[in-house]
Amino acid sequence: MDGFPTALRCFNECHSAEKFVDDEVETVTSVEQKKVERSIEEVLSVYEQIPNLPQPTLLREQHYQYLKKGLRHLSDAYECLDASRPWLCFWILHSLELLEEPIPAAVASDVCQFLARCQSAAGGFSGGPGQHAHLAPTYAAVNALCIIGTEEAFNIIDREKLLDFLMSVKQPDGSFVMHVGGEVDVRSAYCAASVASLTNILIPKLFEDTPNWILSCQNWEGGLSGVPGLEAHGGYTFCGTAALVILGKEHMLDLKALLRWVVSRQMRFEGGFQGRCNKLVDGCYSFWQAGLLPLLHRALFKEGESELSRQRWMFEQQALQEYLLLCCQNPTGGLLDKPGKSRDFYHTCYCLSGLSIAQHFGNVDLHHEMILGREENRLAPTHPVYNICPEKVAKALQHFHRLPVPDDGVSDPAASRSRDRQS
Ligand SMILES: [Zn+2]
Repeated sequence: MDGFPTALRCFNECHSAEKFVDDEVETVTSVEQKKVERSIEEVLSVYEQIPNLPQPTLLREQHYQYLKKGLRHLSDAYECLDASRPWLCFWILHSLELLEEPIPAAVASDVCQFLARCQSAAGGFSGGPGQHAHLAPTYAAVNALCIIGTEEAFNIIDREKLLDFLMSVKQPDGSFVMHVGGEVDVRSAYCAASVASLTNILIPKLFEDTPNWILSCQNWEGGLSGVPGLEAHGGYTFCGTAALVILGKEHMLDLKALLRWVVSRQMRFEGGFQGRCNKLVDGCYSFWQAGLLPLLHRALFKEGESELSRQRWMFEQQALQEYLLLCCQNPTGGLLDKPGKSRDFYHTCYCLSGLSIAQHFGNVDLHHEMILGREENRLAPTHPVYNICPEKVAKALQHFHRLPVPDDGVSDPAASRSRDRQS
């Protein structure tokens, strides 16, 4: 709570920041940027006119109602996410755990049964029942099951088949395709490393050459691109860095160049983050970009750079909280990209995840909270590698580390049946 005597102080400090200057060369991007700054200025001036300037408030109850409803009923607008249904489970369950709202046992069990129907016979999870296995919903389903954290949830994951699936999407150069016959990008390496480490099926052969492939995605900007040679991007940078952390190779990145790139993505006026250079602020990058700072902190600390962040992450934590609380909340629940955009479960999850990162600083011997506004704004901490609460990570690791690591990814049906009998 220290460092924030009043909301007003922070408000004035953060928004005395300079606005965008186009050097009198008007482009489509500069026009859009100015439009966004004007819309944020408007939101802030409405806020400033409220008598006695209230503390920025997290609309807990409204978010809770919006999320609870989404677990059972989705509007027609979600039809386009029919191949991402485990994601909806993860986005909603993770948002609820950050808000410290318990999931009723019956709902948790229904989610487990639904995700069981998304598990492919060939291993891994698909976007919906009867679809092909894909690394992204596999990541979402495993995370959702770990958040639920019951025996029922853990037992749904067929680890031998999951390893078969991961081996089937591994490429000779160390990269992964998102699904059999699908595209390669750095998301797939993260999804594979995340689920393999959580469920204790991480065999060295699975990630042979993967760190080198990920390293080849770090470009001259300092961030990482989806595949080697493209533009650095927040989502891919997070995925590549977190995958390297899981594989214990993050020190091989140019950490200082990465640090310079990510801190330059926090917008001077808006307080939130952009995904790429010269793009607009977007609430979801509150996690993809700000979530890199805990990873970088740890990596640099291990390299002996202990002076870089002692009391706080190396970004303006209060400015990010202010952007999220004042500009990204729908008054009837749910969070969004920027003022004027609609709420959705993806942005709700990643805005809250970023808010949690901005509220909790933690290093080896210190946990330090910086809650902007009322104490009730406090969210539970999130694990910066997996983006589920740290105690859920610990519980999953504890559960799966009691089970033997499958020896290889080539499934022998007879051996697999005998393993089933033993467990
Ligand atoms: Zn977004």
